[in-house]
Amino acid sequence: MLGVYYDGKTSQAHACSVRLNDQGCLEFSELDVDPISIDDISVSDRLASLSRQIFLPDGALFETQDQQGIDALIEAIEGKPPGKNKLLSVSFYETNAKALVAAALFAMLFTAGFFVWGIPLLSAVIAANLPAEVKQAVSAYTIETLDENYFDESELTAHQKQEILTTFSALKQNTNITNASLLFRSSDSIGANAFALPGGQIVVTDELVEIAENPEEIGSVLLHELAHVQHQHGLRKMVESASLYIFISLWIGDAEVLESFSILFFYALLDSKYSRDFEREADAFVLDYARQHSKAIASGFIDVMEKLEASKPAFFSNKATNNKQPKEKAEEETEKGHKIGDLLDYLSSHPITEERLISFRQFINGEDPGYSE
Ligand SMILES: [Zn+2]
Repeated sequence: MLGVYYDGKTSQAHACSVRLNDQGCLEFSELDVDPISIDDISVSDRLASLSRQIFLPDGALFETQDQQGIDALIEAIEGKPPGKNKLLSVSFYETNAKALVAAALFAMLFTAGFFVWGIPLLSAVIAANLPAEVKQAVSAYTIETLDENYFDESELTAHQKQEILTTFSALKQNTNITNASLLFRSSDSIGANAFALPGGQIVVTDELVEIAENPEEIGSVLLHELAHVQHQHGLRKMVESASLYIFISLWIGDAEVLESFSILFFYALLDSKYSRDFEREADAFVLDYARQHSKAIASGFIDVMEKLEASKPAFFSNKATNNKQPKEKAEEETEKGHKIGDLLDYLSSHPITEERLISFRQFINGEDPGYSE
């Protein structure tokens, strides 16, 4: 069998021929190489008319166009003609369109399933197993960044703060969520908002307190955030976004392709799906609380959400934790970045507020499909 030998150390090609001797060893002519036992080699699959490789010890390689020669060698090694192990052979797929379509379909479904369910599951496991110190460090870093870029000190009176803290501790007691605490801040750029940090801190802005007219309104928002704390949504979201980026990179295989709009769209779509799942879970928690403890929480949630929707459509969109920094944002963001940012905002928040309130309205009207006692 004629071909080319590479020693695995230099890129130099040595033309030579190889034959299988009676002792089951490959002998190389015109080369100063000892015979190599066929137990120490492996052979590449047949793929169209591409050249075949014999992988030799120490990174050496023999390459040939002699398909029959290689197939004969495989037969000598395995005692049967190549291709018997059909599902593992690349040439089998090449010659069998149906199997190829089925395999491609399976791969697509598997990939889709992995992105839709696998990554959230993986992130939940990772988030649950991160040590408390890591969560606190992420919280500390987040609040530091937010303080630098978004926040000013709260201007609420001690009395206002005390009222909210009283509501908060009653909610914590009723829900048995003990590892949460409150932080007060004010922010012109964020406006009325509240969000939960991985370490259990819940930030409430003065602007939100101003919008909320009674303890049930602020309480419903606090409950929504307590659910985020309980289910570690902040952390899971971070792990999900990072894993999604990594797995798409691996899947696409070429980082430059990631720049293309369709891939970013795919990323934004999945990323916002994960966010919406968390928002739904947090809303369901509020509704559950209303069923068990206080109907007024449900009307409070509807009222405060409507006010927030009117004041700022992007409420609850996790914007603040998506590391956008408005003070530097204008200069740094490219046009494409803008499009993606707008898209994310649109997908993650704007159209769904009314949808989010449907089950709350049904509950208030005594037609609660999700209620079972
Ligand atoms: Zn939320």
